[in-house]
Amino acid sequence: MHGSTLDRQVLLNIYENTMKKHTRRKFLTNTVPVTLGTTIGFSHVSTLGNSAPTSFEKKMKIVVVGAHPDDPETMCGGVMALYSNSGHEVVSAYLTRGEAGIEGKSYEESAKIRTAEALTACDILKVRPEFLGQIDGNCEITSERYSQIIIFFKNEDPDIILTHWPIDTHRDHRICSVLVYDAWLMLERKPALYYCEAMSGMQSQHFIPTDYIDITSVIEQKHKACFTHVSQKIEETYQYHHGKMEAFRGMEFGCNFAEAFARHVNSAGIYLQ
Ligand SMILES: [Zn+2]
Repeated sequence: MHGSTLDRQVLLNIYENTMKKHTRRKFLTNTVPVTLGTTIGFSHVSTLGNSAPTSFEKKMKIVVVGAHPDDPETMCGGVMALYSNSGHEVVSAYLTRGEAGIEGKSYEESAKIRTAEALTACDILKVRPEFLGQIDGNCEITSERYSQIIIFFKNEDPDIILTHWPIDTHRDHRICSVLVYDAWLMLERKPALYYCEAMSGMQSQHFIPTDYIDITSVIEQKHKACFTHVSQKIEETYQYHHGKMEAFRGMEFGCNFAEAFARHVNSAGIYLQ
């Protein structure tokens, strides 16, 4: 069923009003020291029963792997900002450079533009970019690709991995999820593995969160990073999907804006917070 114009306008108004209310506040962005993680807590440890608080004091490495430039930022840019602002090491890895993502441009031109956008987004989030050499729209699962991503994770040795939820309408997202899952299975020191949602309902499907993180304090930083993807017109369309998701997850969790995750049950005893 399609929503009516009226429904869309009502949702848009709700979202804009929430944003207005929120932008009057001074955000905590950049002011949260590492040791405050568990005391002020961002109110973010969340859980439907299988999480426990973990100290934010130990420096951790978080690696996010998305299929395209803009996937890590839109899926979990809030969590990336919370961790990097607090002194943790965060890596934003892109399976492709978005080669097929700009109509009328060659793969080479698109890759150049979208790589530059990703680099700016990573600067804003204070995370390290990595590009894993696959081609947008043509991602593949082969024994070589499996080996490549296992080596990537062995070198990075992360404490927490975030990637695409596997049931997704975009082939590249599914492939990314499967490659990361396979690498995670192969790691001796097993990090915590969390799946993220990408435009739930439109792309991710049947996503059931186990954990929520309150990203209200870094919402402006996340949006700024997402909106650097000008070639994807993210700023113009954000309110229709990513914006709805973070507001809806916020409603579920009891805050203004939240990101939701599905934690793999065999994850190590480190928890997103
Ligand atoms: Zn994508």
